[in-house]
Amino acid sequence: MLRTHTCGELRTEQSGQTVTLSGWVNRRRDHGGLIFLDLRDRYGVTQVVFNPAVSPQAHAVAIQARSEYVLQVQGEVRNRPSDMINPKLATGAIEVAAGDATILNPAKTPPFYISEETPVDETLRLKYRYLDLRHPRLQHNLILRHRIVKFIRDYLDARNFLEIETPILIKSTPEGARDYLVPARVQPGRFYALPQSPQQLKQLLMVAGLDRYFQIARCFRDEDLRADRQPEFTQLDLEMAFVEQEDVLRISEDLFTELVATVTDKRLKFAPFPRLTYAEAMERFGSDKPDLRFGMELVDLADVVAGSTFRIFQSTLAGGGRVKGIRVPACGTYSRKQLDELTGIAKQFGAQGLIWMARTDDGLRSPVAKFLAEAERDALIARLALEPGDLALIVADTADTVADVLGRLRLEMGTRLNLRPEDEIAFAWILEFPLLEWNAEEERWSAMHHPFTAPMDEDLPLMATDPGRVRAKAYDVVANGWEIGGGSIRIHRRDVQEQMFRLLNISPEQARSQFGHMLEAFEFGAPPHGGIAPGIDRLVMLLAGEHNIREVIAFPKTAAGTDLMTNAPSEVSEQQLKELHLQITKHSSEAAG
Ligand code: ASP
Repeated sequence: MLRTHTCGELRTEQSGQTVTLSGWVNRRRDHGGLIFLDLRDRYGVTQVVFNPAVSPQAHAVAIQARSEYVLQVQGEVRNRPSDMINPKLATGAIEVAAGDATILNPAKTPPFYISEETPVDETLRLKYRYLDLRHPRLQHNLILRHRIVKFIRDYLDARNFLEIETPILIKSTPEGARDYLVPARVQPGRFYALPQSPQQLKQLLMVAGLDRYFQIARCFRDEDLRADRQPEFTQLDLEMAFVEQEDVLRISEDLFTELVATVTDKRLKFAPFPRLTYAEAMERFGSDKPDLRFGMELVDLADVVAGSTFRIFQSTLAGGGRVKGIRVPACGTYSRKQLDELTGIAKQFGAQGLIWMARTDDGLRSPVAKFLAEAERDALIARLALEPGDLALIVADTADTVADVLGRLRLEMGTRLNLRPEDEIAFAWILEFPLLEWNAEEERWSAMHHPFTAPMDEDLPLMATDPGRVRAKAYDVVANGWEIGGGSIRIHRRDVQEQMFRLLNISPEQARSQFGHMLEAFEFGAPPHGGIAPGIDRLVMLLAGEHNIREVIAFPKTAAGTDLMTNAPSEVSEQQLKELHLQITKHSSEAAG
């Protein structure tokens, strides 16, 4: 037997027993005669004492052992002297007195120490991910991820959902992002695509009468990667037949609520989850994924400043822009330098500038105070509810810029003022998204969610007259400033789907060749249906208290899409290319150079 117990298991109850442990050397302390080794595995750490007087053989092994050696130790469990008890360790009341020890495998000096909390360069961590994953924090994250997915499976299973696998090799269709393509060797010139999501397949499962489907689905999107994106990610993909928006919202909300209560020690801020329309979220928080752990809402100041002589206010409002502000409590004493820094942030996010006002005991201190009449200053104080000592941050710009910049400044100030506690989760629903968004570059409409999302019934007439104002039966679940997932009620009639394709500038021929299977399926009795797809990586990140999804993915890629451990993507042989009927016209090195 390689072990009788794990390294996290022994307590004073086992005192006197002879046990065998196997694990990694976490730390080694040589006290002249005695050597102390902490042995580590997934379950914990146990202190082993090597005394030459007890076992010269074991002591000789301990002399050789170094960090990350794999050791097997046999010995007696004994209570630690009371002044040696470590209350921070689950096994801290005992130690094992080694009677016998074997090196199962030595280890080279690791590029970083698992037992130390010192920050390690992430490229090094990713190159040696199998070592990095020995860190208890990362092991906890993966364990939490397992628990979350298991909870979801059990929860949905108990409610009649079927977990159904859909293919990874599918048809390439223009759906939003760029597809990853896989050449079909036996059909030269043809390609599969990796699914951006199983969207069409899950809808077809509803047409097939499976009624309730879910899948822990891997999705692939070949997008320019941002810091918090991965080329492949996991979502809980879910679809239900004979449902309206309310049904999908309710089951998802119950799932999240019970999930958080069962597998985490986090507090839910809201039950039920608040619901905001997209328009309201943008107006009040400057974001469609607002962090609702704190207020600091965006306040409209247009009517208050309309009569001021400040040129920026005048020209912005005349040009159809907005003037809005936020009240930042107790930051009125910010120094010039701190205010310049905030202005820098605002500019970096796209604003022309930032206007600040500090409420003092006897009025307003601000570079623009001289342009404001006393009545206007009073009105600003009242509108923003400024108390003495408060700071107001004001942006005058286009509607989009005002929302974006103040939304981000709000988050920044919320963080600085500790208004975003890690142990609190504030879920919310964002509803009534626009169906379409204008793609200025390509001068056409594109689907805000995806082309299968149904318009709101009352907005159907606008499809022909004013498509930009059509709202969709689409919803996002957000938490703490993150979009956790989105979904929609789907179009289930061929004529409406065709109208949608027309709006998206997809010709009837294209629609038939790309989406013929969907259009045809809708003519064979497609039930009303809808669903949602929360991102598992984001959700685990949030519930683990991490700030980066790479911390909750076993083998993530860098922001440039590279796997630093295996060095994928990599070049392939001429032979492989030939078999696939592919020719590389330009080498990446040349392209880069
Ligand atoms: N397929 C969608 C997505 O991945 C989610 C959904 O509409 O269910 O965003």
